[in-house]
Amino acid sequence: MPPKSIRAILHASELLTGAGVRLKDGRHPEETDLGRIEDGALVYEVFKNGAPGKVLWVGPTSKLPAQYKRVKSKNLRGKQALIPGLIDCHTHLVFAGDRADEFALRSAGVSYEEIAKNGGGIQKTVQATRAASERELLRLACARLKLMRTLGVRVIEMKSGYGLDLETELKCLRVTQALRKTFPDLHLVSTYMGAHDFPKDVDRTSYIEQILEVHLPRVAKERLAEHCDVFVDRGYYTVEEARRILEKAKQLKLSAKVHADELSDTGSAAFAAEIGALSADHLLKISDRGIQALAASQTTAVFLPGTALYLKTTAAPARKLLQAGARVAVSTDFNPGSCPCPSLPAMLTLSALHMGMSRAELFAAVTYNAACALGLQRTTGTLERGMRALFTLTPGEKFESLYYGFGY
Ligand SMILES: [Zn+2]
Repeated sequence: MPPKSIRAILHASELLTGAGVRLKDGRHPEETDLGRIEDGALVYEVFKNGAPGKVLWVGPTSKLPAQYKRVKSKNLRGKQALIPGLIDCHTHLVFAGDRADEFALRSAGVSYEEIAKNGGGIQKTVQATRAASERELLRLACARLKLMRTLGVRVIEMKSGYGLDLETELKCLRVTQALRKTFPDLHLVSTYMGAHDFPKDVDRTSYIEQILEVHLPRVAKERLAEHCDVFVDRGYYTVEEARRILEKAKQLKLSAKVHADELSDTGSAAFAAEIGALSADHLLKISDRGIQALAASQTTAVFLPGTALYLKTTAAPARKLLQAGARVAVSTDFNPGSCPCPSLPAMLTLSALHMGMSRAELFAAVTYNAACALGLQRTTGTLERGMRALFTLTPGEKFESLYYGFGY
């Protein structure tokens, strides 16, 4: 690691530490849990290459300890708020090609599943991603990541799953490794998702055997991913197939994540809770049983409201999950088919308008709770002494200045 220096940010109009959200483990977040400090200041370490060190001190600017008064500082003059760095805990960032030709069909009412049956959908992106070089995938992913960084995101999870063969899955995971070197100021999380769909050139049983016996051992051996995700849904993987894959992943020290109850209720949210998955994501069609199971578990419920908008379906039953005591996160699901929108702030706008989420719930959903969905909550997700110094400045004086404007 290169040497580190100490910096400060002074006179934030409001500084939200999120300390109370951590104390409640992200459940039932309220305004009083945000740790609001008026005219706030933050003192932190940063490495020479831009990688974050630790938070050294946080409090009102008037109480800044004497030993930090001469460190290099940025004065916000009360014009911007300071919050924990935004965490986008569910993206499919590495892919080639686009699916612009599907947009007119989708707008005209053709379903995601019908488009997939006719050669579109994930399979179309698989073809383009298989054909692209690692260098080209890296170039495309870099541009997307730069854009997300300007929107305030500091931690980004990205899944493979547009290869559906060993060579391309590894190629996509290696792109994430390369991105870590290009963006030392960001925390990138890698998830293997060979079980995103089934390849057209291999039969179902053989492909699952390949995942179990070839893909997962290789991914673990080369340390190319921390997590393993499976798309459990009608027309995709069954709960029992997912169980085999995620149990094998666990043996190899990869944590489980589940694309759950998106297109239909398959009981996959309850399954995610049962196997101790880090998160159950989507939940558009979750049953009351699934809601109770998630609320009683350590599995984070992840809403992807951009996907519901794009698929023209009803939003996830957010209030029911929040009231039941589930730990709720919000993410983009950035991908070329069902949500080609890289903006996490835009997802907050949708969550506020379509799911009735409060300011405190939205704050928790993209900070501490999203860190839980990635297993990072011990070091990341709040601005407290000793935590990693990942933070975001909002465009205006209040946290909500981040998401009341829309579409960028
Ligand atoms: Zn997804």
